[in-house]
Amino acid sequence: MTSSMTFQPVLERIAEDIGRMPDRGRPAGYIPALAACDPARFGMAVAEPDGTVYGVGEWRTPFSAQSVTKVFTLALDLAREGDALWEHVGREPSGNPFNSLVQLEYEGGIPRNPFINAGALVVTDRLHTRTGDAAAELLTFLRTESGNPGLAFDLDVAASEDAHGDRNAALAHFMASYGNIASPVPVLLDQYFRQCSVAASCADLALATGFLARHGVRADGSRLLSRSQAKQVNAVMLTCGTYDAAGDFAYRVGLPGKSGVGGGIIAVVPGRCTLCVWGPGLDERGNSVSGVAALDRFTTLTGLSVF
Ligand code: GLN
Repeated sequence: MTSSMTFQPVLERIAEDIGRMPDRGRPAGYIPALAACDPARFGMAVAEPDGTVYGVGEWRTPFSAQSVTKVFTLALDLAREGDALWEHVGREPSGNPFNSLVQLEYEGGIPRNPFINAGALVVTDRLHTRTGDAAAELLTFLRTESGNPGLAFDLDVAASEDAHGDRNAALAHFMASYGNIASPVPVLLDQYFRQCSVAASCADLALATGFLARHGVRADGSRLLSRSQAKQVNAVMLTCGTYDAAGDFAYRVGLPGKSGVGGGIIAVVPGRCTLCVWGPGLDERGNSVSGVAALDRFTTLTGLSVF
């Protein structure tokens, strides 16, 4: 594919293929506010480093970003504290579900990576300690990078998660018992649930991910991460961004990617473009069925992958 080629025809073709998929999974049942979403819905956007965006389907419809936000809080914290972060959270795949507790005890309260819930709670806690309001920091970043000042938290989704948040509360309390959480746990959970509740479209999230295709440089040309840090975030996305399915995602898609239980997945072709796809039906590991299929088709049709 040449650099002058428009992505639009590829996106149209992918949407047709997805439209023929017989089974597109089930929406996240454990967050009641998401459970009613129709798995047939679909949108996809590609953003180029200069901010040009292509899209298909419901690419401008806001959906619940959920764990996709973990990439942005990681980048925002890494930009502030650098490598000291890695003393508090690892960067190895967990091989376990995103909300699992089992590794935490025998690994001394240090979560495997920043993209499982335990690791994201640590990152949000550290960002919160540094900024006084991690969720607001995230929202400001997303608004600026997407150019959409209307981005907002969905407080109904946050409240719904809070009401069913025993497992995340357990993770946070358990890590606090090891001294790996600084904030009071209720404060941290409020921050984390609001962070996850951000409603944004494929276009918004593809644009906001642009700094990872620009090797750490923000939309306005200022630098958020060093080139090396941007490489690190992309690497952790590749190895850990889709939980215990990260191996299969790398095999099928061949790009750094991060999924969320709202059905969104962001992905990065370093130096070339960023993608965001949305399909609310999930597989048993919590990744969007149509989203993974669409990214698989994208890298197959274009040859754009990191391999
Ligand atoms: N807010 C969700 C949770 O904490 C995020 C999980 C996800 O998107 N995988 O369970």
